[in-house]
Amino acid sequence: MTTTKCKVGSCTTFPPPVLYEQRLCLEHYLADIHDRTHAFARQLSNQETTKELEAAIVQFVVLTAAKIAVIGTQNPPQDQLLRGKLLNAMLLLADLRERAERNEKQEETR
Ligand SMILES: [Zn+2]
Repeated sequence: MTTTKCKVGSCTTFPPPVLYEQRLCLEHYLADIHDRTHAFARQLSNQETTKELEAAIVQFVVLTAAKIAVIGTQNPPQDQLLRGKLLNAMLLLADLRERAERNEKQEETR
C-alpha cells in the first residue's frame, strides 16, 4: 500500500495500485495520456517522421494500452464519466498508432 497522493498539484486522490509507479490518480493519468497523445500527433504532422519518433509512439501506445486494459478489466472506475474517458483514451491511442503507420507508408512510397 502507498500513502502517496496523486502528484498533480492540489489533487487529493490516491492512485490505484496499477498507477503507483506513475503516482497519478486515474483521472490525471487519463489527462496525461490525452496530453501526450496530442503532443505526439503534433510531432507527426509537423515534422518528417523519424524512426525514433515512430518507435517512441509505438512503445507509448503499447504500454499505455496494456495499462488501460488492466484498469478496464480488473479495476474499472465506478464513475460513468471516468469510464467514458477510459474508453476515449483507448480510441486516442488507436488513432495515434494509425497515424504513425500512415506516415510510415507515405515515406515508403516517396
Ligand atoms: Zn489526481
